[in-house]
Amino acid sequence: MEDILNLVGGDLVPATGNTWIDVHEPSTGKVYARLADSDARDVEAAVQAAEAAFPAWVAMGREGRSNVLLRLAALIEKDLEGFAEAESRDNGKPVHLARKVDIPRAVANFRFFATAILHFSTEAHVMDDVAVNYTDRSPIGVVGCISPWNLPLYLFTWKIAPALAAGNCVVAKPSEVTPMTAYRMARLCAEAGMPPGVLNIVHGLGPKVGTAITEHPAVKAISFTGGTRTGQEIARVAAPLFKKMSLELGGKNPVVIFADCDLEQALRTTVLSSFRNQGQICLCGSRILVERPLYERFRDAFVQRVKALRVGDPRDAASDLGAVVSEGHMEKVLSYIDLAREEGGRVLCGGKRVQLDGELQGGWYIAPTVIEGLGPACRTNQEEIFGPVVTIAPFDTEQDALSAANGTPYGLAAVLWTSDVKRAHRMAHQLESGIVWVNCWMIRDLRTPFGGMKQSGVGREGGVEALRFFTEAKNVCIKL
Ligand code: NAD
Repeated sequence: MEDILNLVGGDLVPATGNTWIDVHEPSTGKVYARLADSDARDVEAAVQAAEAAFPAWVAMGREGRSNVLLRLAALIEKDLEGFAEAESRDNGKPVHLARKVDIPRAVANFRFFATAILHFSTEAHVMDDVAVNYTDRSPIGVVGCISPWNLPLYLFTWKIAPALAAGNCVVAKPSEVTPMTAYRMARLCAEAGMPPGVLNIVHGLGPKVGTAITEHPAVKAISFTGGTRTGQEIARVAAPLFKKMSLELGGKNPVVIFADCDLEQALRTTVLSSFRNQGQICLCGSRILVERPLYERFRDAFVQRVKALRVGDPRDAASDLGAVVSEGHMEKVLSYIDLAREEGGRVLCGGKRVQLDGELQGGWYIAPTVIEGLGPACRTNQEEIFGPVVTIAPFDTEQDALSAANGTPYGLAAVLWTSDVKRAHRMAHQLESGIVWVNCWMIRDLRTPFGGMKQSGVGREGGVEALRFFTEAKNVCIKL
């Protein structure tokens, strides 16, 4: 059984208290590794290492830092298969998904920010005959990055890459549920030429390690992705300390389908936007709204395709869905299916745990589930489920669709299907959502602003937004 260690000051070390947390393999439900159960002492050591490393990391300059990150990207890419298998084993997702999406995206995150920093320019504001102002942007110092379990290495690197490229030193905490690929990456840092202390990874539980990072006075900014409730707790701790904060939180995303859409494209993509990664992507659409003239046709074809999806061994190339991430999460998702029934919903397919054979019989599998007959205000349509469960309902007018789509506390992503360009613009403008995909889903250009409105978050990641977040802006005004 492998031990997952912290990376502190360039060394791979157990937690100071030498205690451990079990790490499970969702496909079998068995324990397969143990994780350093760190606490505030480990965070303190990591912060000290980061503070000590900061001046030399800044002095390496953009090109020096860029080269380190590019080497790390190349090392991850060289071991793509090893990383993909590790991600699949740790998270339960099909290995083909980790191979195609998660790990290539982690590599792309490093490459993108390693090169973006070389082109990161700053503004100048010239006041005719009076003065010239320019914006000086310097790294903040030590920053904290805290990430969730659903896209483990993908989201972890999405934070640390811009933080490091901009010249900060990082104390990072991956999810305790899926820590393996961050550890695998930690083992490559020295070979990539990362100076000790520049990137520190402290593993363990959120309320212990996450809180210690959030409340540490030397950690000047917190970049967090996870649940809305955790985001509230982080804001409660960090706001009185006047830390910069970027919070990427939960969602309850609508998929709005008009009768004039390309039906085949809408069907094929909506199956993916509902159930990819077992529905555990913050950008998955969980409320499907279909214009009434198309409703029955769409619903029947959709349910037929969902029934054909294969839930199976994540290592099997034929599996469309693997296991959900933990037993607790499986119970939560199943309890929402029960709630949907209590609220009067009809389960059109799925609706239960899937029991596989042999060594997989203890695994945490759920059949992809489609529920009909629920109004927009019920809890099933208001609360984040974050699993392979969607609701489907008809609408009559554009206004009805907008009210339902916008009628939750969340505002992360929305998907729109129509061939009417004017309507697409009209709807996109009115949807309360940080991202609107029109006739597509999950196309990501890393230069674009990424984040949510309302209870889905504060701030934006991606491109120049991330580099601005991870730098402190100072206006320098020089009299002409
Ligand atoms: P979570 O909030 O339980 O945990 C996220 C991270 O925060 C973990 O590393 C956890 O250990 C840590 N944490 C927990 N309590 C903490 C505390 N008090 N202080 C500091 N850190 C703490 O979320 P999760 O269950 O890992 O992930 C699922 C959630 O993440 C869903 O709500 C999903 O929508 C959201 N998510 C959002 C985005 C986005 O970009 N908006 C992307 C992926 C996931």
